[in-house]
Amino acid sequence: MKVLVINAGSSSLKFTLYETHGEAMLAHGLVERIGQAKPELRYEVSDGRVLRSEASVGNHNDALGLICGKLVDPQWGVLQALSEVAAIGHRVVHGGEKFTAPARINDEVKKGIRQYADLAPLHNPPNLGGIEACERVFPGVPNVAVFDTAFHQTMPPASYLFAIPYELYEKYGLRKYGFHGTSHKFVSQATARFLGRSLEELRLVTCHLGNGCSIAAVKGGQVLDTSMGMTPLMGLVMGTRCGDIDPGAVLYLVKQGMSADQVDTLLNRQSGLLGVASIGSSDMRDIIAAAEQGQEKPRRALDMFVHRLASYIGSYHVVLGGADAVVFTGGIGENSAVIRELVVSRLGVLGCHLDRDANARVRGAAVITTPESSLKAVVMPTNEELMIAQETEQLLAEVIAKRPFCGNPGVRRQNSEWDSSTNPACLSIILATDF
Ligand code: AMP
Repeated sequence: MKVLVINAGSSSLKFTLYETHGEAMLAHGLVERIGQAKPELRYEVSDGRVLRSEASVGNHNDALGLICGKLVDPQWGVLQALSEVAAIGHRVVHGGEKFTAPARINDEVKKGIRQYADLAPLHNPPNLGGIEACERVFPGVPNVAVFDTAFHQTMPPASYLFAIPYELYEKYGLRKYGFHGTSHKFVSQATARFLGRSLEELRLVTCHLGNGCSIAAVKGGQVLDTSMGMTPLMGLVMGTRCGDIDPGAVLYLVKQGMSADQVDTLLNRQSGLLGVASIGSSDMRDIIAAAEQGQEKPRRALDMFVHRLASYIGSYHVVLGGADAVVFTGGIGENSAVIRELVVSRLGVLGCHLDRDANARVRGAAVITTPESSLKAVVMPTNEELMIAQETEQLLAEVIAKRPFCGNPGVRRQNSEWDSSTNPACLSIILATDF
């Protein structure tokens, strides 16, 4: 089944086309700087060929049209016709309390995404824009929203409530929602497979360390706590976001005369590694290089990053009643042996002992602790796009499986691949039906 995955940002449209049988990625890329000067297309085919070109697009509709043109292009295409796309999965950042699982797009779901735009003003409106562009370009093809917040909705109230008057939770939905859920879910499942254990029996601390960073305590596949909050500003030290901060410090800045927008920019875009290291970069590679040259501020930024992360890992170890593995993923988690070493070397008290050679050798998934360690450290590459494609396929398969008239219901194999015995004619009728 060919599933197109769309991640629409305010000025970019990322896409990945999957053949979900065998998890094959057929093409991926993005259009960036949409609506700005010199928009650009980057289009990559699975055989490694890459096309970069200027893209004269004024909006997300044009950008999607351009991508679709390439997907069926005689030279660059991977499809005979766009009608081969059986479903489209969309990354949607905020699903509030309403969406605890992927949802087939209909008017009600779009209303929900709009409703949560207040909580994710930079993300939900463009996510919805991407959905509506797909509805126009692919009429009749089912769209599915996969929410960044959904995986975290198993958190108990003790984790997700803020210690403020309860009416504010009831009135405004002020609570912790958590983000990067698709990544935390993907690496939880992938780690269970990699360790040859069932997810139900595992207690994992999953660390998504990229430009944005978050950590989750996952017990038996259910999130018990996570570090990001009502917005993605809370928790770990990030590229440009401050993470945890005393709300009193924010009030102090406001009382000094800063506006809400100024504080927003300060804490979201000028803080974190960028703000503390003061070398004009939020890239962890630059911070590490500057710290290794002996520069004090980048060293301090690194220390803060590691201290905060190690503290959360310790805390979630308690939340889980003991953990089986700490999982590193994201650009930093997957690629930085330095950060993994700095963090794991603080976890000896939890029975987690680094295997330095294994840590230095990491390519893809790996265990980087000694065999005697009671708490393993694992590196697990994330793949949010594949997870979105799989969840899209799975949701549609579940709906089809419930339809008795099909004659040959879409039974899924255990690994969630589409059963090849599914009647294709029946499938296309069902997929084109709005239910
Ligand atoms: P992501 O948001 O997951 O794409 O991750 C982006 C972050 O990964 C950036 O801050 C990069 O500096 C960081 N990163 C990528 N490669 C490395 C590396 N080899 N060492 C340290 N950080 C890295």
